[in-house]
Amino acid sequence: MESIGVLMTCPPNFPYLVEELEKRFTLYKLQNAPDKTHFINSHKNSIRAVVGNAGFGADAELIDQLPKLEIVSSFSVGLDKVDLPKCKEKRIRVTNTPDVLTNDVADLAIGLMLAVLRRLCESDRYVRSGKWKKGDYKLTTKFTGKSVGIIGLGRIGMAIATRAEAFSCPISYYARTEKPDVKYRYYPSVIELAANCQILVVACALTEETHHIVNREVMNALGPKGVLINIGRGPHVDEPELVSALLEGRLGGAGLDVFEDEPNVPEPLFGLENVVLLPHVGSGTVETRKAMADLVVGNLEAHFFKKPLLTPVV
Ligand code: NAP
Repeated sequence: MESIGVLMTCPPNFPYLVEELEKRFTLYKLQNAPDKTHFINSHKNSIRAVVGNAGFGADAELIDQLPKLEIVSSFSVGLDKVDLPKCKEKRIRVTNTPDVLTNDVADLAIGLMLAVLRRLCESDRYVRSGKWKKGDYKLTTKFTGKSVGIIGLGRIGMAIATRAEAFSCPISYYARTEKPDVKYRYYPSVIELAANCQILVVACALTEETHHIVNREVMNALGPKGVLINIGRGPHVDEPELVSALLEGRLGGAGLDVFEDEPNVPEPLFGLENVVLLPHVGSGTVETRKAMADLVVGNLEAHFFKKPLLTPVV
């Protein structure tokens, strides 16, 4: 398989994935190329696979530049950076990394809820800056028993729900359709969900329909004591509206792992103690990233050995 060219569109910053790919294929690292267009043109006839991630996928323009492309194997579960209709049209296979990252992302969502309500990051800064010596930290807000509303009750949404249940949180959700075998309360609109929960979590896929699914109206419905947690994708939330809602006190707090223009985060958020900001690390543990890399490589091997794909999407 050494003659098969694989184009890595994401930064080659996870050595295990790079090494495993290089053991099997000829790897072209797009992010290292000084002139990307020239780089793609020079190798386009040997590139039969693309490896992307949550930030860098395969858009229509790239797909059209690669006449021999057969498969896109994404190092992420979300596929919003891959042009799925284009792949279908050109009979290009697409795989992702579901399930193996579910627990990490759900753990992080609960961590964000605790961090925002109990002001974990702010209290840590309080100790480090020596302020504790001048007086105790102020009281914070209880997490146990808060009602949690989840947008998108898929693998990650469900894992968040089961964890929050252990904290005695009543759970409700919004999805396109009510799930028949689910005991949690269903709301047919995001506004109704937001109006009826204290913590609203975004855990759905990013599509045209879910772009800015959390808008001004939703934030106002969640209200000045409500907390927004986003572990989905940045564009799920109208970010300028989020900044205004937080600055004006119309929203109680936010725990954010994802942003509209990563790695750029709105600076007005930096000074807010009721906001916890993370650099898109939902699946970022050594164990999970290795399992994801194994799936990326396993899918490519299956494809080129003409075996069934491990986690096919298209
Ligand atoms: P999943 O099992 O496919 O769940 C996605 C959910 O999105 C489905 O339950 C679906 O619900 C819902 N959905 C799709 N379109 C919707 C719409 N128009 N309105 C409301 N809900 C909609 O995927 P997953 O494994 O749980 O992952 C979910 C997302 O988490 C990924 O797409 C990714 O963007 C994000 N993620 C983030 C990180 C991170 O590092 N922060 C890591 C992994 C994943 P219905 O089909 O029932 O409507």
